[in-house]
Amino acid sequence: MADNVVHVENLSKHYPPDIKAVDGVSFSIPSGVVFSLLGPNGAGKTTVVEILEGLRTPTSGTALIFGTDASKDYAKLRDRVGILPQNFEPFDMLKPSEAIEYWASLYDMRIAKKEVKELLESVGLYERRNSMSKKLSGGEKRKLGIALSLVNNPELLFLDEPTTGLDPKARRDLWKLIDGIRGRGTTVVLTTHYLDEAEKLADDVAIMHKGKIIVRGKPADLVSKYSKMTVVVLVGAGKEGLSEMMRRGIPATEENGDVLVPVSDPAEMRIVLAKLASIQLKVKDMYTRRQTLEDVFLNVVGAKMDEGVLGQ
Ligand code: ATP
Repeated sequence: MADNVVHVENLSKHYPPDIKAVDGVSFSIPSGVVFSLLGPNGAGKTTVVEILEGLRTPTSGTALIFGTDASKDYAKLRDRVGILPQNFEPFDMLKPSEAIEYWASLYDMRIAKKEVKELLESVGLYERRNSMSKKLSGGEKRKLGIALSLVNNPELLFLDEPTTGLDPKARRDLWKLIDGIRGRGTTVVLTTHYLDEAEKLADDVAIMHKGKIIVRGKPADLVSKYSKMTVVVLVGAGKEGLSEMMRRGIPATEENGDVLVPVSDPAEMRIVLAKLASIQLKVKDMYTRRQTLEDVFLNVVGAKMDEGVLGQ
């Protein structure tokens, strides 16, 4: 526990009359990792991080950063922590370089022009240093938000849904940036509802649902524990293909006209492929696909998630 950057134990936040926004959550985060709280809208992710950021008081339980109680003594932590809040919007009428200087002044820091330049370069915004922030694209605004959150060179960085609403290119740019921040040894707490984002970036993932952490682990470990490792996809095999599998006792499911045959033991793959090859089936294509956090999520939550919203 002593070496953990964050230690949360049995944390709850209830709102009257009976909303359990956070309901008995425990986890620890060691130094230098990207830890992701992953879950749909309303799961309780922001409530957990805002307690850790000293912005909300828990109903019960403990939330420690560097051994200090974040909800009681946040002033002690302020210089060591960086925060990118959800839906961050920069100051419209400031240029990125001015925003950084202003933000540094809030930490009573005088920041040299050279450091402003380095910070803007590190987030890929140096070329845009003289544009009013209101002229920046959505992705550039988030990059500026990350630059501001790094002004005090924090040891721990909270990124609350940093890529929500951005286009795929901007999201990939930010992923690179976050990966680089981890590379500097900064511990990152990333809340997201994007499964691919957590899979790509996180060393450690906690899936939150209805105020609780329902599973936690390295993405690869979660995939091997909570999903069939690999599926063979018979493209376009449809209902006919599915009944053919059923007739032969091969476990399979149908999804959007494709038939999926799960293979849990990699050693069985050759046998399954040989069996499938011997069946006369109308298929457009056939490939194998490793399962992902998306499959884990479906298995443990029982629903798919799209833009933070659970499917039926
Ligand atoms: P989102 O991505 O939508 O922010 P989240 O996982 O971060 O989702 P929270 O914002 O932590 O979820 O909200 C968890 C639950 O607590 C939700 O049901 C929300 O409506 C409720 N909640 C949050 N703040 C309050 C409040 N001040 N009063 C009452 N209910 C609240």
